Amino acid sequence: MKDIILEIRKFILSRILGRKYYRTGKCNACGKCCTKIYVKHYKHVIQDEEEFKKLQFLHRFYTYLRVIDKDETGLVFECTNLDPLTHKCKIHKNRPGICRRYPQEELFSMGGALSDDCGYKMEPIIPFKEVLEKAERKKNKKFSFRLMK
Ligand code: SF4
Ligand code: SF4
Repeated sequence: MKDIILEIRKFILSRILGRKYYRTGKCNACGKCCTKIYVKHYKHVIQDEEEFKKLQFLHRFYTYLRVIDKDETGLVFECTNLDPLTHKCKIHKNRPGICRRYPQEELFSMGGALSDDCGYKMEPIIPFKEVLEKAERKKNKKFSFRLMK
């Protein structure tokens, strides 16, 4: 039964929502994803504090963030709602949707990655081996078609 539910979930994610990954595991509340955050707006990662201040009017999540660093990717933020002692979110029940949905596939498209401590894993819906086999079958099909001609 568990396998069927997983297959249905994978089907909906890939065929209806166009996803390539599905999420497994669960949050172990390590708090790592709340301590090194980049903000991407449209196609670029925020580099400038003045630009970020304007973004804070757009979404309440941004009002929680504080700049802690800047690196080659852009400004690095941490969330002020993270309790530094317990590593727990102080507004857990009312946290924004962006935090509830973390981690999402978009993380990879933004150049991000899960922390090593994260209890979640993002698994490809179609295993890489299967993608290769499919490509190989397609290649062979084309080849035999040419022979028949
Ligand atoms: S609101 Fe809570 S869950 Fe979201 S980034 Fe801040 S501390 Fe983390
Ligand atoms: S990094 Fe992963 S395990 Fe840690 S708090 Fe974030 S979602 Fe949970």
